[in-house]
Order: sequence, then structure tokens, then C-alpha cells
Amino acid sequence: MEIFGQNVFSQDVMRERLPKAVYKNLKKTIDEGLPLDPSIADVVATAMKEWAIERGATHFTHWFQPMTGVTAEKHDSFITPTDAGIMMEFSGKELIKGEPDASSFPSGGLRATFEARGYTAWDCTSPAFLREEADVVTLCIPTAFCSYTGEALDKKTPLLRSMEALSTQALRILRLFGNQTANRVTSTVGPEQEYFLVDKSFFEERLDLMMAGRTLFGAMPPKGQELEDHYFGTIKERVVSYMKEVNTELWKLGVTAKTQHNEVAPSQFEIAPIFETTNIATDHNQLVMDTLKRVALRHDMVCLLHEKPFAGVNGSGKHNNWSMSSSDGQNLLEPGHTPHENAQFLTFLMATIKAVDEYAGLLRMTCANAGNDHRLGANEAPPAIISVFLGEQLADIMEQIEKGGAKSSKKGTDMQIGVTTLPALPKDTTDRNRTSPFAFTGNKFEFRMVGSTFSISGPNVIINTIIAEVLRQFADKLEKSKDFSADLQKLLQETAKKHKRIVFNGNNYSDEWVAEAKKRGLPNIPSTPEALKELIKKESVELFTRHKVFTEKEIHARYEIVVEQYVKTLNIEALTMIDMAKQSIMPAATSFITEVAQSISSVAAVSSKIDVSAQKETLEEASKLLSAMNKNVKALQKALDNALAIEDLAKQATAFREKVFAQMLALRADGDALEKIVSADYWPMPTYAEMLFIL
Ligand code: ADP
Ligand code: MG
Repeated sequence: MEIFGQNVFSQDVMRERLPKAVYKNLKKTIDEGLPLDPSIADVVATAMKEWAIERGATHFTHWFQPMTGVTAEKHDSFITPTDAGIMMEFSGKELIKGEPDASSFPSGGLRATFEARGYTAWDCTSPAFLREEADVVTLCIPTAFCSYTGEALDKKTPLLRSMEALSTQALRILRLFGNQTANRVTSTVGPEQEYFLVDKSFFEERLDLMMAGRTLFGAMPPKGQELEDHYFGTIKERVVSYMKEVNTELWKLGVTAKTQHNEVAPSQFEIAPIFETTNIATDHNQLVMDTLKRVALRHDMVCLLHEKPFAGVNGSGKHNNWSMSSSDGQNLLEPGHTPHENAQFLTFLMATIKAVDEYAGLLRMTCANAGNDHRLGANEAPPAIISVFLGEQLADIMEQIEKGGAKSSKKGTDMQIGVTTLPALPKDTTDRNRTSPFAFTGNKFEFRMVGSTFSISGPNVIINTIIAEVLRQFADKLEKSKDFSADLQKLLQETAKKHKRIVFNGNNYSDEWVAEAKKRGLPNIPSTPEALKELIKKESVELFTRHKVFTEKEIHARYEIVVEQYVKTLNIEALTMIDMAKQSIMPAATSFITEVAQSISSVAAVSSKIDVSAQKETLEEASKLLSAMNKNVKALQKALDNALAIEDLAKQATAFREKVFAQMLALRADGDALEKIVSADYWPMPTYAEMLFIL
């Protein structure tokens, strides 16, 4: 209790340190989304500075989330020269607006270099915090980042816009249900974060881990995760002590680190906080990832956030638990106790189902990157097909709605929507479907496709916006209605009929589902280059511009950025593989082959009667693999050169996927086969067995 939030300029601290009127003014902006009153900025800045300096801060930074996926910061000290010497100053202007030279951040062509200015703008809805690293304390101010001309260049701006859109539309629905008290609806998120830990000494001996965050070579050890003895197993001492420090750091930052456990794969773990408003949850998830990485180094370990650090073993995801809550304290996805509450719940539920069905491609798109391509469709990862899990009881209710159920009637404020009462829905893990990409879990949806490295901003921008859109359609219809109850029933019935195809309660990992989904006409988009195209479809542009989440220009810029990131990632991986093959694996194999050959001639020199068939076989096999590897290195280089020569970005990405990536797999197969026969004394890098089982 003492350390929790101690490094946060929280509402409590503000209440204590700000003049009453200023505090009230600011709180209104934070709680109700009203525009920030610039005249209070100086007062807030001074209070913030004093608080920070008391805690040892010398610098401040606007902390923002450019399109790189990680956070960015540029530190400025508080020192300001005056006639009397040095003062520690921090003005309202500095709090509200920053002007980093932003020419080196990805902008997708939004910002020409001659107009390199970018702006950061204070997001007062996410609290400022102090970051302690070694003996340096820095005041970090969460900010949005945009171009000189006002286009969003970051992950925060569209998220805030999408939350606004959702609030506007959800309130319209609440009003239709007679709610006059709520003045805001916010989306809430609790992201579960998976990660791997490896000993730092191993990491440093693996060029692939250092360059790409995942192993590009590596044969499977005799033991993987098949004994299922790691999941929820007792946590090793070195790891708990790491987790303890991670928790302490996060608690200081006001992050509610709550759950931690061993995950399925050896050396894989999970941390989950308690859910919060999406904006803050997104900032906090960035802090979680950052803290996991930084604290690991203090324990001589490296935290791998990559979606698939080890081929053949489970990958890491991020389960995005999502719901909506109204300012009068309702969770809008919580089934109610009265028919009235149930009708409202079912309206939001059916809206979600319709949104997921209609915009499945966008949901798939938002989880697409080079790393997640290794995961989607693989073991313990959701397949690339989007579907919704409802559970038996709700699926049954949806069926009743579809059939029409009871007749419409209206008594007082109660209404019937085909079913008057809902059973108490189990919220525990017993009725869970672990394979569904979009699962209803009692009072929230869990979107499981998100990759472990992702900022959760992207997925939540999509979820918020697509649900806002369906709620808009619902509200447009129902606001004109003369008989709300009857028309609501009709609307829900139509929705159930039309969108039941997206509901699937079975095993998403089965081949039957792939076939069944195809029959139902559900999209199955296997790779990133294909998935990303969803973003620039006409329907997507319409959706985002209607709700003012992105302008058309911003959409195209973003598309360009993510496709480029995909290409760059694969390019780095391919180059790393070539280096590893040429500089370590092939030389090691050559030395080994030389030793074997020498053994054959040495033994023969002693006596021609001694059997050297073992050496000969090994010599032959190793030489064959070495020569195959040599060919495949050249083939990869060629595929890479060809892909790099393609000018059209989308075509280039496809070439990387189809040609470069395929060639990488072939090269890896040679390397992994060599690892199995080359003497361990010669093998130039730590093996899977060492990396996965030594902690
Ligand atoms: P599991 O691993 O079984 O899915 P966890 O307990 O690890 O469950 O994670 C569940 C997550 O869902 C937690 O972060 C929790 O705070 C979050 N959550 C619970 N209720 C809501 C809600 N209304 N909105 C968003 N997230 C929620
Ligand atoms: Mg979990």
C-alpha cells in the first residue's frame, strides 16, 4: 500500500497539491473528456515540477508512442538560467506542448523532411509518472504525437478518438433505454502479457536473438513442452525474485500487476494487471513491457517479447480483455438481473457480434506482423479465422432471439426481447474455450489473437470503432422507432439471423473448423501482407473517416508504415541468417568435417583393418548438408536481392513472404540438421535445450 502509485502524479496528489478550482477544472477534463483549459497549465506544471523534484527528478520528458510500437522520449532538464543564476523551471507551455524534431519516426509519407516538425500534446487523462533508472529520476508526461499539419503520427491519438466515438454511440443506446444519468462510456481493457526469459549469456551468443528477437536456427531438444509440466508449475527462485522486482517497479508506477504464472512453454511466463480505461491500460502495458525488459537485465536475464522466439514451442500472445463501462457504473457487457437490464445487455452483446462478423478482416489486420505470422494458426494460438465464442447458454439465448421468442410487449419500463431472464452465466474458467480468438468470458470479451509485442492501441482502436459503428446503426434505427420494445426485438432478431455464422463454440484448432468456416464464408487470411490490405479497403476508409478515428491520409500512411515494417523485419532476419550461416555455422561444420576426415586418415595410417564407417557416414552426411547450406545461402541472398528490387510496396511484401521467407525455412532446415550431427564441442551457439531449460 505504501509503494503503490508512489511515482504517479495521481488524482490524489493533484487534489492535495493543486488549488481547489484548478483541480476541479482538470478533473472535469479527465472524467468527462471536456477540452483542457490552457489557463490552468502553469499551475499544474509548477505543482508537477515541485512534486517531481522532491522525489529527485532533474529532467522531464514528453513520453509518446510513435508508430515504432515502442515508446519514445527526449529528456530536458528543469534548469533555466536567470540573472540570479540557475532556477528549476517547468512552464505550462512545456507541459502542454513539445516540439521534438520528429523526422526520424515512421510517418508513412505524412511528413516531408523539410516539414520535419512534430508536436507532442499532453494527455491529461493518463497520469504523469516518474521513471527511476539507476539513480536517475525522470518526470514522464504521457503525450499524443502529431505532425505539423495535425495528422496523428502515434498510437495514442487514434485510440482516444476511437474511445470518443464509442462513447458517443453507446450513450445514444443508453438514452434509448431511458438512462439519463450516464454522461460517458469508456472501453476498459485488461491485457495479459506473455513473455520468455533466457539467461543473458546465452542471448549474447545468439546473433538471431540480438538482431531479430527470435531464433532463426535451432533444432528441437529431446524435451519440449509435451509433459505439460511447466504450465502453472512452481516458479523457479531466480524467476520469482525477478517477478518480485518487476511487480515492485510496476506498483510504484500505479500499474496493478496482479497475476503471474509459468506459461505452457519452458521458460515462458505471464503477467496480468487488473483492467483499466483503455487509454491508461495501453500506456501501462507499454510500461509493463519496458519494465519486463529492463528488470530482466538486472537479473542477468533477457526478456523476449517476440511472438515466436523458439520454433516448435508455444509462442507468446497478449489476451486483450475488453468491455465497456458507463460513467454511472455499469459494465455494459454484464448480464443483468431484470428483463430491462437483460435487453440492454443483449443489445450490446449483439452489436459486438455483428461488429466482429462485419469487420473480421480488420480484427485480423490489427494482429498482423511478421512475428505473429508464426503464431496464428499454430499450437495454442488462435487460428487466423475470426469467430466468436459465446458459451452454451448464451448461444442458446441467441438462438431463441433468432426464432423470435416471446411476443413484444411493454409493461412499464420492462421489455421483452424474446427471453425475459438470463441464467447466471459462469465467469470462472470451467466453461472456457481456450481456442477461440474472440471469446465471451462472462462479462467481457477476450481477444486472443494479439501478439505479445504489440501495442494494444491498434486492436482496441479497431474494437472500439467497429462497435461504435454498429451501435450507430442500431441507434439510427431505434431512435426513429414508435414502439421501442417491438423494434428492438426485431432488430436483435435480424442481427442474430444474419450474424450467427460468426459464432463458433467448438475447437478452433481443428481442421474441421477451417473447412466449416470456409463454408460459412468467414475470411481466413493466412499472412501479414494479405491481412494488412484490409486497412485500405473502401469499407475501412468509410468506417474510420465517419467516426473521425483516422483521416484517409492517415490510413494510407499507416498502411505504408506497417507494410514497410514487415519488409524490414524480414530483411533483417534474412541478413542475420546469412551472417550466421556464413560466419558461424558453416565454419563450425567445416572444422568438424576436417576433424572427422583427419580421423579417417589417422586411423587408416595405423591400420587399414579398423572400421571407419561411422566417421565416413558422418563425413558424408555433414558434407552434404554443408553443401546444401551453401546453395541455400546463395538462394536466399538472391531471393532477397530480387525482393528488394521490387518498387511496389505491397508486391514487395508479398515477395518477402512467398520467396524470401520460404528460402529462410529451407536454410534453417539445413542448419538444424547440421546441429544434430556436428559435435557439441564445435557448435557455435547455445542450443534450445540450454536456452529453454537453464534459468
Ligand atoms: P485468464 O488467463 O483466465 O483469461 P486472467 O485473470 O489472467 O484470466 O485475466 C483476465 C483479465 O481480464 C484481467 O486483466 C482482468 O482484470 C480483466 N477484466 C476483468 N473484467 C474486465 C472488464 N470488465 N473489462 C476489461 N477487462 C476485464
Ligand atoms: Mg491468462
